[in-house]
Amino acid sequence: MTQERSLEQPYPYSRVELVEPDWTRFPGWRDVTRSDWESAQWQRAHCVKNTKQLRSVLGDLVSDAFYADLERDQAQRATMSMLVPPQMVNTMMPRVTPSTDALYPDPVRRYMLPVFSDRRTDWPSHPHATRDSLHEHDMWVAEGLTHRYPTKVLAEMLPTCPQYCGHCTRMDLVGNSTPVIDKLKFALKPVDRVERMLEYLRTNPGVRDVVVSGGDVANMPWPRLEAFVDALLDIDNIRDIRLATKALMGLPQHWLQDDVRAGMERLAGKATQRGGSIAIHTHVNHANSVTPLVARATRAMLDTGIRDVRNQGVLMGGINDDAHALLDLCFNLLDGAQIMPYYFYMCDMIPFSEHWRVSVGQAQALQHAIMGYLPGFATPRIVCDVPFVGKRWVHQLESYDRDRGISYWTKNYRTSIERADPDALTRTYEYYDPIHTLPESGQEWWRQHAGDHLAAAEVAAKASREAAESQKSLPVP
Ligand code: SF4
Repeated sequence: MTQERSLEQPYPYSRVELVEPDWTRFPGWRDVTRSDWESAQWQRAHCVKNTKQLRSVLGDLVSDAFYADLERDQAQRATMSMLVPPQMVNTMMPRVTPSTDALYPDPVRRYMLPVFSDRRTDWPSHPHATRDSLHEHDMWVAEGLTHRYPTKVLAEMLPTCPQYCGHCTRMDLVGNSTPVIDKLKFALKPVDRVERMLEYLRTNPGVRDVVVSGGDVANMPWPRLEAFVDALLDIDNIRDIRLATKALMGLPQHWLQDDVRAGMERLAGKATQRGGSIAIHTHVNHANSVTPLVARATRAMLDTGIRDVRNQGVLMGGINDDAHALLDLCFNLLDGAQIMPYYFYMCDMIPFSEHWRVSVGQAQALQHAIMGYLPGFATPRIVCDVPFVGKRWVHQLESYDRDRGISYWTKNYRTSIERADPDALTRTYEYYDPIHTLPESGQEWWRQHAGDHLAAAEVAAKASREAAESQKSLPVP
């Protein structure tokens, strides 16, 4: 008889059965039935949009000080307004009686309900933080259509989501204005915007891949979303279509609706017939968010015949910035919900995000620590979205000044604003670590030089904007 002896490993894998947390542990949802809970309409109607509504759910299980901390954040720091579906609230403190002590450190709370005391006071924002940190707007070739990579585009269909994440990289455009950020508004009517996007794609055969995003496509009335994707499938050069929806996790009830399933089946059938593919890309940041309902919604979507459901999480301090948390999440996704771990993005350099951001060095260490546990095809790459460059694997940098936390990157393609830029492929582009993670000498350097550095960057950005403006008169190739 052989005796199984397991080798001790830094990460001890064991299969975990998913469990839907019991929502009746919240005083406000004590009487909510399963059929209400599983209804997309009920979930949307009971989203938490302000402190008063959160209080009506949590009652006095949570202290007044917490609600005051949350309100202060909304008034003085938040770049996103509050919007949390019950499904997501229920993944906070999933295994304990709700309490102030359990709520503060909760990983889902830390990014969906950020409080003022979470944020750093030394460097709340990096000096180089900007509201459109990836310059997606600069690269619009039609309103809402960003052409940043050679063969793929991002179509921002709408500026809303069923849930608003505190760290949203599109905080410039997505969601309601907050006391801190006035949101950019689309100027065109949706129907005109869509028509101009389709026109660009029909006349640019070099584009083969469209990320249909927002916001979150779950907020688009299904007939409008179906009509757009159907029109994309009629364009011969479009081969891959990816639908971006965090709601697969935040509001899985949406993707379980009969009309949505039937519509997706029609689209998947058409895609298969013409040799293209449709995939869903979702955004899950913590293992606790993967519940049986998320697994059911994923199964329902895979059963329509779409090619895959993949996860693009965001790496964030205090939420998932350790190897065990990342691997727990990946195994829950893969084993429990058949969602493919795909990317973890570093949190972008938006205002007030320093407490979430981690250094490139830490991201590299985490990538090393998670290698070898998951199948190769399901091992996520940790990527840094470098301004004016795009996604780069964190080990791809050219050089790294660890003292000042500045990494230097190059790229191998031009974005849509660099058609006439002879230096686009030889220039180095900078990314900045959070200053509080630097050695004291580096922090002191930033205290002394943040102003000069910003002035130099502003000169470079101005030159780049001028180059982009002059290109607008050039014919589209
Ligand atoms: S779901 Fe995506 S687009 Fe919407 S708020 Fe969250 S990160 Fe932003």
